[in-house]
Amino acid sequence: MVLPKPQHYTARVSAKVPLTNKVWAVTFTLENPQELHFIAGQSMMLHITDGINRSMSIASPPRDIKNILMCHDVSPMGPGSKWTLGLNVGDQVSLVAPLGMFVLDNQSHRKKVMIATGTGIVPFRSMIMDYLAGPATRQNEVVLYWGLRHEEDIYWREEFEALAGKYPNFHFVLTLSKPTETWAGHRGRVTDHLFVEEKNFIDTDFYLCGSKAMVDEVKKALFSRNVPNTQVKQELFF
Ligand SMILES: Cc1cc2nc3c(=O)[nH]c(=O)nc-3n(C[C@H](O)[C@H](O)[C@H](O)COP(=O)(O)OP(=O)(O)OC[C@H]3O[C@@H](n4cnc5c(N)ncnc54)[C@H](O)[C@@H]3O)c2cc1C
Repeated sequence: MVLPKPQHYTARVSAKVPLTNKVWAVTFTLENPQELHFIAGQSMMLHITDGINRSMSIASPPRDIKNILMCHDVSPMGPGSKWTLGLNVGDQVSLVAPLGMFVLDNQSHRKKVMIATGTGIVPFRSMIMDYLAGPATRQNEVVLYWGLRHEEDIYWREEFEALAGKYPNFHFVLTLSKPTETWAGHRGRVTDHLFVEEKNFIDTDFYLCGSKAMVDEVKKALFSRNVPNTQVKQELFF
């Protein structure tokens, strides 16, 4: 697959909304150049201040070539988090995009299993929206496992549930590791559900995104089940 070449962009913040008390969705409308062509799953590098840049996956699907959605967990409260918190609609930003190779292998006819913790969901939103709306040849089963801690950490749930209702080949498993007693959904970590619900590890491509701790744990468990290295792709956020 040929990946598009990265370029410098200037863009303007056209929307900024909180998704939870620590996650912000920010839309950048591109100004120069005005269009970004990328492959779902790719990321961008945002210029924060002199010598400081932060990587962000692109949450919007590639069909949105003029507006790019970022979804940022600001709980680390380092320079990148403070920059996002301080952004206002109308601010100009500079970025380099598209970057990275965390993209779906659309030539593969294997089932696609995606595993995310926290904002590790971001590249999968773009991939899933793109894959499901794509050509009719894209009929592979897609399963998204998403792990969060508390009920108040949840966002985009209705959106993924609506996609699962519309596309019979898409399944969405949301699990909370520290829910309240009244939570009626899945409990525990993504890994608990993944290794109970998935039966055929050999005919599956795995995509992992989030913390190094989660990615390393899942990879170890997959390799112990003889999943080839070539069927496991990862994006480490921290
Ligand atoms: C390819 C790539 C794509 C990324 N995409 C996204 C994205 O779409 N959304 C997003 O929110 N972040 C994303 N990140 C993480 C992001 O780039 C920053 O690392 C993060 O926002 C912290 O930046 P900071 O300047 O606030 O804190 P820093 O000063 O850089 O980090 C402070 C501390 O927090 C840790 N840390 C970083 N992120 C987290 C986290 N989420 N939870 C807990 N601890 C953390 C760091 O390891 C460090 O110890 C991505 C990272 C990479 C490499």
